[in-house]
Amino acid sequence: MTTPSLDFFSFHNIINNELTSTATTRHGINPANSQPNPDAPVSSQEDLDRAVQAARVAFKKWSKTPIAERRAALHAYASAIEVNADGFAKTLTMEQGKPLAQSATEVGMASTWIRGISALVIPQNVIEETEDRKIIQRFTPMGVVGAIVPWNFPVLLAIGKVAQAVYAGNAVIIKPSPFTPYCDLKLAELATHFFPPGVVQCLSGDDSLGPMITEHPGIDKISFTGSILTGRRVMASCAKTLKRVTLELGGNDPAIICDDVDIDAIIPKIGILSYLCSSQICMMIKRLYVHENIYDAFLEKLVAFVKTLKVGEGTEADVFVGPVQNKMQFDKTKELFNSITTDRLKIALGGSIQDSAGYFIHPTIIDNPPENSRIVQEEPFAPILPVMKWSDEDDVIGKANALETGLGASVWSKDFERATRIADQLESGVVWVNSHFDVAPNAPFGGHKQSGMGVEWGVTGLLGYCNSQTQWLKKF
Ligand code: NAD
Repeated sequence: MTTPSLDFFSFHNIINNELTSTATTRHGINPANSQPNPDAPVSSQEDLDRAVQAARVAFKKWSKTPIAERRAALHAYASAIEVNADGFAKTLTMEQGKPLAQSATEVGMASTWIRGISALVIPQNVIEETEDRKIIQRFTPMGVVGAIVPWNFPVLLAIGKVAQAVYAGNAVIIKPSPFTPYCDLKLAELATHFFPPGVVQCLSGDDSLGPMITEHPGIDKISFTGSILTGRRVMASCAKTLKRVTLELGGNDPAIICDDVDIDAIIPKIGILSYLCSSQICMMIKRLYVHENIYDAFLEKLVAFVKTLKVGEGTEADVFVGPVQNKMQFDKTKELFNSITTDRLKIALGGSIQDSAGYFIHPTIIDNPPENSRIVQEEPFAPILPVMKWSDEDDVIGKANALETGLGASVWSKDFERATRIADQLESGVVWVNSHFDVAPNAPFGGHKQSGMGVEWGVTGLLGYCNSQTQWLKKF
């Protein structure tokens, strides 16, 4: 089969492997210059009903398709994404705003995730085996999955859900964020070449589409990634039909820097892991606790490094910080920046937002704000970082754990025992030592407390797309 190459100019819903149009359309905005992006479908209840109907039909056969065949289809799909990587990366920068190199990385991760997830083994556990009976636990596909995706990582987060759903034998309907529908529609269009009709579908729409999906009685599971507020609404809606839910929600990740670190060696890592994707990543460093013995030198060097991060359009060479993704996020950030004055915070870098054609915000660092300030308590999802002093280990652990979020956290020290002692006491779904935001398709990730429910990726994530079935097998 020749590898299909996509056009990235016209965008359609994918229902039952057909490119379909809707009565009304809408368009996203290129956040770097406020220019309109191409038209995208606005799906109605009728479009959703058709997609669910197709998915239910597809599920009957796909769930019985041998797993080796499902894996082979996924591998071919991953290769086709690689062939079209350039178009995906450019489209991602156009719709999301992130620099082209970061878009290319995200698209590359999509193929890696498909291959990594489809290499996992869905277990079958023998619980007891005696002469007269056997008890086994096996994992069966659930049915139709609704994959609700946010605007910060539309390619990787959609693909993670698609790969898990489809590999486990389900049908999946992708719902992109209205801010970033384009790559997700093209991912589903590409999927038509590799999967039977109804297995992978994508509907774009306005704000009414998400609730239609969570309410739909023909959908069995929702995998949702987005904000805590929306996560609560999703769960409440899913309760009506007792849908299974996985929720990947917001975070406010602390990083604890001990006084024995090699400052020069870690500054670039800390800087990058605080401002990647203009800090619009759920697991970026959002609260930086630096030991008081090194605080002044660390802050000075961090400011010097962050100043070198070039801000601009994602298509320009060497840009590291693109615009924030949308006007809502830009306005929310402006409002948070007002708290610099109202909370009387000390600015180490940046601190103001200029109006321009795009939603650009220069990286900002706040010097030792009080714990109760908004900038410490809230997830900014924008390039502003509070840096706080600490001296007592128990106290800093308490502060790191004090919020209702618990997505990621990190500890940085040359003393591995000290670092792991602190790490073991952190209340978050992922903890890193001397690193932050490492992710892999075979490693589960998810949040404690209000940062989520369940995990994605790894065998545990994959089993979230399966029902558990216990079989009692009497031999006579
Ligand atoms: P959001 O909650 O506004 O939207 C996420 C998705 O949900 C979008 O597709 C949106 O259209 C849809 N949606 C909105 N209202 C809905 C409803 N009532 N029912 C069903 N669907 C609905 O989030 P966002 O602004 O797109 O993303 C930013 C947030 O996502 C941040 O808080 C960030 O930390 C979080 N996030 C978490 C992870 C993670 O894995 N934990 C990853 C990325 C982003």
